[in-house]
Amino acid sequence: METIIGIDLGTTNSLCSVFQDGKPVLIPNPHGSMLTPSVVAILDDGRVVVGQAARELQVTRPEAAVACFKRWMGTDHKVSLQGKSFTPVELSSFVLKALKEDAEAFLKKPIEAAVITVPAYFNDHQRKATKQAGEMAGLKVRRIINEPTAAALTYGFHDRNAEKMILVVDLGGGTFDVTLMEIFEGTLEIVSTAGESMLGGEDFTDRIVATVLKKEGLALEVAEVRSPLRVSRLRQECELAKRGLATESTVRIRLPDDHGTYDESRAVKLDRAAFAKIVEPLMERIKRPITRAMQDGQREAKEIDEVILVGGATRMSVMQECVQQIFGKQGLIKYNPDEVVALGAAVQAALILDHADVREMVMTDVCPFTLGISIAKEFGTRIESGYFNPIIHRNTTIPVSREEVVCTLIDNQPEIIVKVYQGEARKVVDNVFLGELQVKDIPRQPAGAEIMIRFTYDLNGLLEVEAYVPSSNRKFSTVLTNHAATLSKFELEQAIRNLQRLKFYPRDDLENQRLLRYAERMVGEVNRFQREQLEYAVDRFLNAMVDSERESFASARQDLLITLEQLGISYDGQSEDEKP
Ligand code: AMP
Repeated sequence: METIIGIDLGTTNSLCSVFQDGKPVLIPNPHGSMLTPSVVAILDDGRVVVGQAARELQVTRPEAAVACFKRWMGTDHKVSLQGKSFTPVELSSFVLKALKEDAEAFLKKPIEAAVITVPAYFNDHQRKATKQAGEMAGLKVRRIINEPTAAALTYGFHDRNAEKMILVVDLGGGTFDVTLMEIFEGTLEIVSTAGESMLGGEDFTDRIVATVLKKEGLALEVAEVRSPLRVSRLRQECELAKRGLATESTVRIRLPDDHGTYDESRAVKLDRAAFAKIVEPLMERIKRPITRAMQDGQREAKEIDEVILVGGATRMSVMQECVQQIFGKQGLIKYNPDEVVALGAAVQAALILDHADVREMVMTDVCPFTLGISIAKEFGTRIESGYFNPIIHRNTTIPVSREEVVCTLIDNQPEIIVKVYQGEARKVVDNVFLGELQVKDIPRQPAGAEIMIRFTYDLNGLLEVEAYVPSSNRKFSTVLTNHAATLSKFELEQAIRNLQRLKFYPRDDLENQRLLRYAERMVGEVNRFQREQLEYAVDRFLNAMVDSERESFASARQDLLITLEQLGISYDGQSEDEKP
């Protein structure tokens, strides 16, 4: 039987899953962890490293590594690493390739298909970019599903016989989604969804970083250029502080100098109240999509049976207080918020494969935003163009196909350019331009000739636009690709060929890379006497990695581990991020 893996391609971490023995399970990476940091680094020898080892590199050599590239999906943004330029699609494909390899090692067979999750608020470009990243990684993308829908699927799968109204609040590293869902008789109906694709846990960390730097008389943007090492180290401290505040009432933030070195005497304190004040503007933005999803679904707070918290950043006390304040009840974390989306992707894969264990389940999803075209409006004798005419309204159940009639404006008008937009604004300039369709050779006739425009929005959230000209009986159609960030079939093949030339660091040897990066980072943390000892052990390990025999490599590795232990530095095979 074909195997389809589920992938949660996250801003900060990615996870891989599969439906096995009647339930969704997570697939571990070579370090035995379920979370693979969505970080890519290029080593000096040009090899690509993905995951925890890349994250370690990001701290010590910020110029060689990149994270959070999910935020640029669907844009023309490029990232330069070690003199080579990469698109966000390519960087994402490296992560997907790593997950695919981990799944192959775990399942002991080649894997060719996947369900990949995206934030509900991802637009058409971002979804296509994700699909292409999958193809570049050698995966047939069988379905793109919304992250909160995937989270809802996990809850729905385990709670199939319930009857309830649930609100899923999903705050990940870089995106925020809210989804209202009803479960009844094995049917999971997504009622409405709302969100922001540029708001996530990382913004909360950024606010702390900016506040700390401001106290030191520095603007974040300036500091990032002048002393990137200081900012990357401080960011790491602030990330720990933010996480610490989920359980502690006060945390300490050490202040690194320009070389990224800490002096224990330089630190500031942050308590929950101060943190809440710092992130107040972000919390205002968090409340808006919650209100919108409730309004669109025509439900009131008291009708919600459960508020489910998904995404690592919902662990922040400010998020839990916000839910309590709006709904008068605590947000529920029944399943690990980091894992629930990936698990849902595996349930979706089982639904596609018509697995016996999900046969009685039905799921319906909605289109998260309004799709329409640009039209001209007549104001007396004046005609003004640039108005948005919705064709598929947000929160319509998908798949959906809707038709709209437009007319020629002048006599003998030979063509119409249908400009397609996504968004909620009245004027198209304030919405996202998705592409255009040229309708040509309209027969000569007086103004007012009718042309039918049909929008079809599929289960993947991809849009097809068709136009039909009755007077010529001609049809025009396009799956929108009119954007630099989405590649044509030829360009995609070319990109795949280029990527095949890149060398990847072997996944099963990543543990050594990670140990090396971790130890290198610790060199900057210890005092100068310890530094000498640690540096010696690191150099020996590095040499052994490059050209040594098996035995001397094993002894160099052991030596490094012992040195770390002697210096009181714990290395338990888990990074700070993976610790529960
Ligand atoms: P995700 O994309 O769902 O993996 O979410 C990652 C985000 O969750 C990052 O911004 C993390 O900083 C944040 N996060 C993870 N654990 C915690 C925690 N204990 N407290 C606060 N934020 C957290």
